[in-house]
Amino acid sequence: CGIVGIVGREPVAGRLVDALKRLEYRGYDSAGVATIDHGKLDRRRAEGKLFNLEKVLDQNPLSGKIGIAHTRWATHGAPTESNAHPHFVGNVAIVHNGIIENFAELKEELIAGGAVFSSQTDTEVVAQLVAREIASGKPKRDAVQSVLKRLTGAYALALIFADEPDTIMAARSGPPLAVGYGKGEMYMGSDAIALSPFTNEISYLHDGDWAILTAGKVEIMDFDGNPVERPKQISAATA
Ligand code: GLU
Repeated sequence: CGIVGIVGREPVAGRLVDALKRLEYRGYDSAGVATIDHGKLDRRRAEGKLFNLEKVLDQNPLSGKIGIAHTRWATHGAPTESNAHPHFVGNVAIVHNGIIENFAELKEELIAGGAVFSSQTDTEVVAQLVAREIASGKPKRDAVQSVLKRLTGAYALALIFADEPDTIMAARSGPPLAVGYGKGEMYMGSDAIALSPFTNEISYLHDGDWAILTAGKVEIMDFDGNPVERPKQISAATA
C-alpha cells in the first residue's frame, strides 16, 4: 500500500498512477486517485490491480493539476470500490495508509453529532473530523492540526481541499513519508522511489511531523505547529 500527492503545473492523474506503480511492491487490493478541477473534487477508484484503475481513467479521464492517490491494503471495511480511497467529506479528500486505532470512539462521537458515513473505513473518521472542524470556523491548518492530536495508531495520510486547490497537507505517525521538491511543483509520497520520476530532492518526515505543501513552498511542523528542519537529501532512487 502507498500514498502519493502532487501540487502540479500540469495535469496530475497520469503521473499519480505512475507513482503508484512504483509502490505496487508493497501489495494492495484496490486503488484510487482524486484531483481538483475548477474548484471541484473528482475521483476514480477500482478494485484490484492498477490496470483496472487505468482502464477507468482511460474511459473517463480526470483533469486537475493537484491530486492525491492511494493503493489500499484493507484493514477496516472490505476491499470494495466504495471503501477504496480517496474518501470525500464535503470539500475534504483524504488518502491514508495504516490504522486509526481509536476510530470507533471517534466515529460514535461523529455520528452522535449527525455525521453520515459513506464507507466502512477507519480513514473516513479523519476526513469527517477535519470537515467538522472547518465547518466550525477553524482555518484548515488549525483544523488538521487539532485532528492529528486526537488520532492514535499508525498512519501516513494526505488531504486536499476543493476550496483551496493549491495545498496538500500530509502527516506521518508511523509509516514512512517523504516530500519531494520540484520546480514550481511539490510532491509527497510513501518513499523516494515513488517520487523518483519527478525529483530526487527529498526530505523525510519524522514520526509526529506534518507538512503543508504548495507549489512554491513546503512547511514541516510538529503536531503542536512548531516548525522543524528536515534537511533536503539527494535520493539515490532512479526513475
Ligand atoms: N485502514 C485503512 C483502510 O482500511 C487504510 C489501509 C491501508 O493502509 O491501505 O482503508
